[in-house]
Amino acid sequence: MTAITAELDTKTKRTPVKGMMDNVMEQFNSAAEQVNLHPNIRKILSITNNEIIVHFPVKMDNGDVEIFTGYRVQHNNALGPYKGGLRYHPTVDIDAARALAMWMTWKTSLAGLPYGGGKGGIQLDPSKYSQNELERITRRFTFALADNIGPEHDIPAPDVNTNSQTMAWIADTYMSTRPPAERTANQHVVTGKPDGSGGLEGRDRATGYGVFLNIKFWAERKNESLYGKKFIVQGFGNVGYWAAYFLEKEGAKLVAVQDAFGSIQNADGIKVDDLFNYTKVNNGSIVDFPESVVLNKEEFFGTECDICIPAALGNQITVENAHTIKAKLIAEGANGPTNVEGEKLLLERGVTILPDILCNSGGVVGSYFEWLQNRNGELWQLDEVMAKLDKKMKESFNKVYEYSEKEGMDLRTAAYCIAIKRIEKAYIQRGIFP
Ligand code: NAD
Repeated sequence: MTAITAELDTKTKRTPVKGMMDNVMEQFNSAAEQVNLHPNIRKILSITNNEIIVHFPVKMDNGDVEIFTGYRVQHNNALGPYKGGLRYHPTVDIDAARALAMWMTWKTSLAGLPYGGGKGGIQLDPSKYSQNELERITRRFTFALADNIGPEHDIPAPDVNTNSQTMAWIADTYMSTRPPAERTANQHVVTGKPDGSGGLEGRDRATGYGVFLNIKFWAERKNESLYGKKFIVQGFGNVGYWAAYFLEKEGAKLVAVQDAFGSIQNADGIKVDDLFNYTKVNNGSIVDFPESVVLNKEEFFGTECDICIPAALGNQITVENAHTIKAKLIAEGANGPTNVEGEKLLLERGVTILPDILCNSGGVVGSYFEWLQNRNGELWQLDEVMAKLDKKMKESFNKVYEYSEKEGMDLRTAAYCIAIKRIEKAYIQRGIFP
């Protein structure tokens, strides 16, 4: 990763782009100063507990064997089992997994859940593999992780390019490799499963719904209506689609979308479900959607709009494009989409940022509900799930909003302060073994 970054920088002659780990550490250090975090706890939280790297062979459809590299980073478990997604993407490496695991620790703490933070994945481009190959890769990765995951130890969930099917394969492999008496009792080793296999009704939309709710709560505080508001979405996958779906239902208008394949625009509005159905028959891509025009990749964030939702990868909003952003609200669906320098510029311009650890926490809250449902042998109904999610998201939003008003700080710093103070309290009460 470092080598690739350095090579790009010599070519572009730009200041080196910082990695996601630099961002999460700068955010953490700034909040640690604000709350005067105990120096010993600062040392503990600055580093990950465990880093698991596995290399494993998988037989391809043509009979060849390919070796894959998988990661699972467990940052901290002071508040409960490690929790966080698995990502299948060429950018997955140890630096990305560390940063994403740390963000999960802050997110679960802020949401008041009994979890710590973990993250992982496999460095690969899933579009290059058949469904059968992806199943074998996933099952072999689960086998390689072995007891490093577990329903009371470390609980993965979907992330970029993984979904409920991936989680079903992991659950099945994990359960099949337990001693006979433990097999069926372990389905909560992962969350985000399909609803026929212990999954939670509504887990699919939980993250996007949470992003929408955060935008709605913010608008209510500002006495503004979402009706007629224009918004743009980067990433039209699980998070981007559902956030757009709920915003459109509230009367807001989707005017530009960018995915891994291209960018499109329609100032009169793009119908969310029409675009979603189009991607289903267009290899998952938004490109050439009939009721739209092509937009240059670099122009996407500069589109005229009120709300911008980055819901793809990290480090997307930087000093390179932050000055072009027209939106007055950025709702972070993705993890780490805005880097520290980009954020500084936006805050100076009076743009509000709903930070990732608050804004996209609906996903991990939904995962917690699924875990509880499995643990207690229950089946929850969709309306019950959505009502519980609503309540939990409102509590978190109010906590962060009010802290930021009281302390005169931006929403991200406020969210971090609340999150790290909860972890500090647990360490102070328990002490350090031995
Ligand atoms: P997904 O795989 O369902 O969708 C990802 C989308 O991003 C796709 O539309 C893809 O084409 C697009 N994309 C990929 N690379 C891109 C690029 N370079 N430029 C523009 N678009 C690009 O993934 P997801 O689950 O929706 O996750 C999206 C983000 O939300 C990630 O940062 C993830 O960590 C975060 N997140 C996801 C969840 C969840 O429950 N799925 C929860 C919290 C946070």
